[in-house]
Amino acid sequence: MALIIGGSGQLGRELAKRLEGALLTYNTTPVEGGVKLDLTDPLAVEDLIIKRRPSVIVNTAAYTDVDGCEDNRELAYRVNTLAVKHIVRAARLVGSYLVHVSTDYVFDGEKGDYREDDTPSPINHYGLTKLLGEAYASSYDDALIVRTSGVFGQKNNFPLVALQKLRRGERVEAVEMWYSPIHASNLATAMVELIKRRLTGVIHVAGERVSRYELAQAIAKHIGADPELVVRIPYTQARFKARRPMDSSLNSQKAKTMLRQPFNTLEENIRALVHNTSVATHSEG
Ligand code: NDP
Repeated sequence: MALIIGGSGQLGRELAKRLEGALLTYNTTPVEGGVKLDLTDPLAVEDLIIKRRPSVIVNTAAYTDVDGCEDNRELAYRVNTLAVKHIVRAARLVGSYLVHVSTDYVFDGEKGDYREDDTPSPINHYGLTKLLGEAYASSYDDALIVRTSGVFGQKNNFPLVALQKLRRGERVEAVEMWYSPIHASNLATAMVELIKRRLTGVIHVAGERVSRYELAQAIAKHIGADPELVVRIPYTQARFKARRPMDSSLNSQKAKTMLRQPFNTLEENIRALVHNTSVATHSEG
């Protein structure tokens, strides 16, 4: 049996569609048939894993609000770092294979096109707590760390907000920052293949490198909106509470070589966004 921690999140929901019979956990957003698990309660985390003895644990849960992590550092540490320690402890006891999801924000964004062996150097608290979480996951031999970037789909993050504004004919301010966004459905499909092959180590699974400006323009083109609605904001003029890496794009060549399933092109990721999104529920991640 697979256990999906964070089964109520955008990635967790897509994984649940593909891992039949998986047990899902949620915290504040109930999912049908799921169990409530608050990752800030270490005993509950270990108890669930030890009692259910899953053969696979996929940890997609995180405190993903980048600015929120800057304000609530203790909570970010408990969810993104300490919880991973307890997941690993219990996984080791019952012999579960662990797949832990991490982020491009472990990098400082000075280089871009990051490979798995590039040195992380986070510049905000979200990235720092996720990197520390990776350290716990990598202390376990039977663990795979999947780093990804700009996951989009159901959540109210940049591509969806841009799409909604462009559909209404409103201006979209897009900062010149590069990343490699991927639709949650494409990421989940790739992860299922990784899980089946029981790979360990670190792997990057992300989309094509693109700036937010280029992405918003591509969305405008796709839906026939006026590209002039997209306003370019230079990186130096961006106003975020937490610092953001300027180019956190990930190089997914290793995954592309290993996996049989095709990676979406940028256009395909945009098509998946445009045709699958009717609900927006969360804040940025
Ligand atoms: P979401 O924000 O959509 O979902 C987060 C999940 O974590 C939800 O299921 C949420 O539960 C759960 N969660 C949050 N806090 C707690 C807590 N205290 N106890 C238990 N569960 C909790 O995330 P995504 O699906 O977008 O992200 C999946 C993974 O990908 C994360 O590890 C993230 O760090 C990583 N990632 C995401 C990116 C993005 O752009 N979104 C970019 C790069 C990496 P509930 O909703 O029920 O409270």
